[in-house]
Amino acid sequence: METLGIYISVPFCRSKCSYCNFASGVFPESYQQRYVDRLLSDIREIGIQAAAMGVSLPRVVNSLYFGGGTPSILAPALLHELFAVLRSGFRFSADAEITMECAPGQLADDVLAGVVECGVNRFSFGVQSFVDREASSTGRLHNRATALCDIERVLAAGIRSVNADLIAGLPHQTAESWRESLEVLLASGVDHASVYMLEVDEDSRLGRELIERGSRYHAASVPSDDQTADFYLEAVEVLNRNGLTQYEISNFARPGTASIHNKKYWQRQPYVGFGLDAHSMLRADDGNPVRFRMGDDMQGFLNGSGFAEVQPVPRSEALEEAWFLGLRMNDGVALRDLVGEFGTVAICSHDSVLNELSSTGLLEINDGRVRLTDRGRLLSNEVFESFLVEKQNHLTELVTID
Ligand code: SF4
Repeated sequence: METLGIYISVPFCRSKCSYCNFASGVFPESYQQRYVDRLLSDIREIGIQAAAMGVSLPRVVNSLYFGGGTPSILAPALLHELFAVLRSGFRFSADAEITMECAPGQLADDVLAGVVECGVNRFSFGVQSFVDREASSTGRLHNRATALCDIERVLAAGIRSVNADLIAGLPHQTAESWRESLEVLLASGVDHASVYMLEVDEDSRLGRELIERGSRYHAASVPSDDQTADFYLEAVEVLNRNGLTQYEISNFARPGTASIHNKKYWQRQPYVGFGLDAHSMLRADDGNPVRFRMGDDMQGFLNGSGFAEVQPVPRSEALEEAWFLGLRMNDGVALRDLVGEFGTVAICSHDSVLNELSSTGLLEINDGRVRLTDRGRLLSNEVFESFLVEKQNHLTELVTID
């Protein structure tokens, strides 16, 4: 039976971190009720919307993810309303993973107790650094003690599955301070870690400053790209050696605790997102994916704007997605599955790119699976781009299906 993942975007934050390029912000508290009212209405209407788009909406949910933003700053009564409407519209499997993202220091006792009662069984903390100077230089409002205290609180509340995010490449980060963050994370009791490399783009204040070489947000203290890459490689080595095994480019878990929700994105299983800038992927009756997303303008959302984009994914693009999403996972892509979905001729269209990437040591092909190498994971963006531009070459002999 096909199951569904649900994502709820809660874009409210107490402050805006300098590196953040999400559709989140510091909005007036009065927006929260209006925002949740809109979410409730969209959740109630999604069956009608799905039918209008000609896509099927599985009703059994095995993952629910409150992301943001900082969902834990929503008033408990609003969170209860959301759970009530979600549970009346969908059937949750007994083992459903229900995750709530939190900023350390922003999980009040009544919210923790309330959401655990509602079924939240996994917390994800945006720690980013356990070194106080690094956290504060990006505008985070917590320090190491706060983050460790919150992790302890959720563990004490009976939650077994806890993630901590770290960012490699923050201002003032050094090889020593990065090692310190990794060591503190390992000792903290979390069973999952997400390690991202700082993104430099126009959508964050720090990113713009790095591009323009300013100094207000500590751009001058950001490690070089090579240093950041070394930090990432060290995280892979240290976390793997200590039992948090890498299962995706940025994700590490103890056995049995890989994120069910995030795996849906990489394995192209159906999910539906509600709220600002939330993305969805459901399948049409012919099996082809249809992607749709909400816009990222808060006023528009509160005023009832519809989907910003609804896009049936052509089969050629679906195949590209199958490659670059599947390759994010350490298990890689099973050629047999790809042939089953797209046919031999279609997958052979990427033969030459596979050939080139494996000859340059970025990919390996073993036992009918294609995987990124360690170096390929470090250069994953370049690898994925080559799948996007590769459209002309057909039917060479590299890929053998047994
Ligand atoms: S708390 Fe998270 S979503 Fe909010 S500004 Fe910071 S990084 Fe962005």
